[in-house]
Amino acid sequence: MKKLIEYIAEAEKGGYALGHFNFSDLATLKGIVSGFEKAQKEISGEIALIVGLSGGERDFIGSRQAVSLVKSYREAGLPVFLNADHTKSLEKAIEAAKDGFDAVLFDAGREPIEKNIERTKEAVAAIREIDQGIVTEGELGFLGEGSRIFSEIPEAADWSPEKMTTPEEAMRFVEETGVDLVAPAVGNIHGLIAEKGGVFENPELDLDRIGRIKEAVVAAMVLHGGSGIKDEELKAAVSRGMVVVHISSELRLAWRKGLEKSFAGDPGEIAPYKLLRPSTEAIADMVFQKLKLLNSVLY
Ligand SMILES: [Zn+2]
Repeated sequence: MKKLIEYIAEAEKGGYALGHFNFSDLATLKGIVSGFEKAQKEISGEIALIVGLSGGERDFIGSRQAVSLVKSYREAGLPVFLNADHTKSLEKAIEAAKDGFDAVLFDAGREPIEKNIERTKEAVAAIREIDQGIVTEGELGFLGEGSRIFSEIPEAADWSPEKMTTPEEAMRFVEETGVDLVAPAVGNIHGLIAEKGGVFENPELDLDRIGRIKEAVVAAMVLHGGSGIKDEELKAAVSRGMVVVHISSELRLAWRKGLEKSFAGDPGEIAPYKLLRPSTEAIADMVFQKLKLLNSVLY
């Protein structure tokens, strides 16, 4: 099986993107993997799947337990890789690297750029000292905290044009930190802006800026906050140069809706694996649909 960095390089060359989906329970992971397998059958190329755990998700499922789960899929021949999503401390980055994660996103995006570069550089060096093969990622700007439904755009998020990442900042950040992947702020935010799961009103992506950053950096570009973005916009972000796209909030919403459907059904049903089935199915379908958009050039 190829290495994650090779799958990323191929996606960059081919103009398509790898999906990155977060999970914190088996029902979600099962859904993600089955959506991926369905997409894999329809696609005329070799794609890989990235699953991620943020700090809270890691604490819940267990870092080493998650590594074992993901490895078990790889042993069965499925190219699934695990990312330590939004790792905020050097200590946690080292822990993830030692536990066997395939990729680490060190997130100092909230810091001013000088401090961000200094901390990310330190984390990249520490991770590579443990394992050269781990894919490293850094983040520029603050995209808001938490994959949940918000009634309005979080005030602190860097989504307005004057706060977005510039190509010059991205170039400097990549050169000085040596990251493999870079996640810029280009109008994307974490979470869904919507009234109780209604129509999403997330801000629009600055597609032109994505194209300009792509030309300026050697690292592959990652789009965080891929939930709540219109289909055509997501496709355009990939064609302008996004190579990995993170989707979490929409999966969480599908999980919740699936469970609500179960709870509204037979009150005598108490088997978790039966109650969670609609969530798993909805997640599988969503992952399949999203991968269709990210890989449209392979269809
Ligand atoms: Zn993110």
